[in-house]
Amino acid sequence: MKSSDSVFDHLEHVNKQQKWIRNFLRSYWVVVFIHFFAQLGAFLFLDYPATAYHFFVHILLIPTSCMVLMIVWADWIHRTRLQLSYYALFLTSTFITWTIIYLNYDIRIITALCLMPIFSAVIFFNKRLLWIPALLQMFAFLTLYFADPHFRTFLTPFDVISIPAFILGGTFVAHVIVSSGSEILNHLHHTMQSKQDLIVKNAIMSKISKTDGLTNLYNQVSFKDYYDTAFDYASQGVTLHLALLDIDNFKLINDTYGHQVGDKVLGTVAQIIQDHISSSDIAARYGGEEFALLIFDKTFDEAYALVENIRRHLSLLHWAELDNQTVTISIGLHSCEPGLNKEQLFEQVDQYLYHAKRSGKNKTITSHSVGSIA
Ligand code: GH3
Ligand code: MG
Ligand code: MG
Repeated sequence: MKSSDSVFDHLEHVNKQQKWIRNFLRSYWVVVFIHFFAQLGAFLFLDYPATAYHFFVHILLIPTSCMVLMIVWADWIHRTRLQLSYYALFLTSTFITWTIIYLNYDIRIITALCLMPIFSAVIFFNKRLLWIPALLQMFAFLTLYFADPHFRTFLTPFDVISIPAFILGGTFVAHVIVSSGSEILNHLHHTMQSKQDLIVKNAIMSKISKTDGLTNLYNQVSFKDYYDTAFDYASQGVTLHLALLDIDNFKLINDTYGHQVGDKVLGTVAQIIQDHISSSDIAARYGGEEFALLIFDKTFDEAYALVENIRRHLSLLHWAELDNQTVTISIGLHSCEPGLNKEQLFEQVDQYLYHAKRSGKNKTITSHSVGSIA
């Protein structure tokens, strides 16, 4: 089954080919039109070896009508039976070419017109298609040669050999053009593909290098970058709060229920944090069971409510893996305010977290609450 991408590629390719077929049919109208007026001009202004009746009926009217009918037919096939349009196109171009050659075979160079159907096939970059106009033209040539003694006597033995050779030679050159063109296209396609792969790989690598594999949150290194940037924004007036969240007695969970359960707890806590913050906030796994949170564009009360919601939500969760016990976190929170540099802000929040641990855990300590526990 095709992937949706390749289906779209295919549809686009078909669309382009349809456009080329339409363009070719348009160019055939031009050829027939030019031929019509060239003949008329030759009859009116040159010494034309035909009676007016013969000229108008057998050279102008009937052949032009047949050629026009062929174009109309090819256009109809193109619109109703797309898969047959190549054949209709080649048949029409061969018909027009050999009608014009036949009407003008006294102009020796006119046989060069048999390049026209070959050109029609080149544009589709399909080597097998090239042989269709070649075979059709051979057939047209042989039909005229055997059907019309006058045409036969006009051609020299050299013509009889050189015309098919010219068709074959032209097809061979077209073959070379299509081969080298396909090679260039393939090369281009591969280059584009590997470039795309590289972009995807880079994006994946960049995500991997920025995030923590267990929790999918940013890791400490990328958090530090974000923290630096956030602090710069804050000094330009953006409101910023920093929170540190640490799981309480996590060592005990690990020791009692195993490392794997510990990992699951880490993953779930990270998910709860992620679910509570807004898309502009940044959460990171700062250490083993410690998380850092950058909260933007919120008042202190809103930031406090946010971290408290996380803490409360977690404290109400009973874990089947921990014999239905709960897991709690302690939090330190502080606003980025004038007079504090980024190290001092971090130090301050770390202090609050330490206070939260020392004063019984499962709580949020801020500058507002620190007085009461000092
Ligand atoms: P406190 O309440 O004071 O924070 O105590 P705690 O036990 O949570 O803190 P402590 O620093 O004593 O222990 C942290 C433990 O976290 C120790 C370490 O083995 C564990 N840890 C660190 N990283 C991971 C991890 O990726 N997976 C698991 N399962 N455990 C981890
Ligand atoms: Mg801990
Ligand atoms: Mg810790």
